[in-house]
Amino acid sequence: MKTKGKIYVVGIGPGNREHMSVRAIEAIQKADVIIGYKTYIDLIRDLVAGKEVIDSGMKKEVERCNLTLDKAMEGHQVAIISSGDAGVYGMAGIMLEVKYERMSDIEIEVVPGITAASAASAALGAPMMHDFTVISLSDLLTDWELIRKRLECAAVGDFIIALYNPKSMGRVHQIEEAREIFLKHKAKTTPVGIVKNAKRKDEEIILTDLENMLNHEIDMLTVVIVGNSNTYIKDGKMITPRGYRI
Ligand code: SAH
Repeated sequence: MKTKGKIYVVGIGPGNREHMSVRAIEAIQKADVIIGYKTYIDLIRDLVAGKEVIDSGMKKEVERCNLTLDKAMEGHQVAIISSGDAGVYGMAGIMLEVKYERMSDIEIEVVPGITAASAASAALGAPMMHDFTVISLSDLLTDWELIRKRLECAAVGDFIIALYNPKSMGRVHQIEEAREIFLKHKAKTTPVGIVKNAKRKDEEIILTDLENMLNHEIDMLTVVIVGNSNTYIKDGKMITPRGYRI
């Protein structure tokens, strides 16, 4: 009898084994087919030896999910890989959408992972100890006007703000506009943490503030965390008080 296929949508966290969940490792081990963006597959190369590995380029998400479903329908155990958390700008949503669009009954298990904001927070100290919001500055799939509105609301609400997809080679004005919006509602001395490759071997941490944040390199491997009105920097750590009396 043909075995029943299954799909694991696996968030591998930043990429190193020690920051991956036990379930993520199990899912990858159980799978006989591994599908994902090449850069992420490279992070788990040691776990995928002997398996069928299908690595694809960026911006092929729908194609990747269709292929994943095809493979599962043939009876394979398929792991589709996201960096960080599969459910945070990852493959979980699109995989479920493709499944229901194609009216498939294949089981999908979403395996969570450490998202970039958590990894960067840990690297910085404790910046997200109070209410925070995560905003992606990528306007490929979202109208820039809507993103601007969310940036404004987050700043008005004095949220700590983690910015994903802050800047790419061809997309530079968004981070500049975001900063201008923040400066309307937040002090220019508000601490900002810039973390590149959080919890990866090439991790880089910069502590700065809203006034100076653009003087530092920011790219697509970077997450930017802007503090709230109580956030401070002490001894190389970015800290947002929760409110305990000490
Ligand atoms: N699913 C991923 C996010 C994908 S969006 C997650 O949960 O982390 C891609 C963006 O995430 C990047 O442009 C960058 O802003 C951020 N990112 C992902 N991994 C990162 C890391 N290790 N260090 C810093 N930023 C990271």
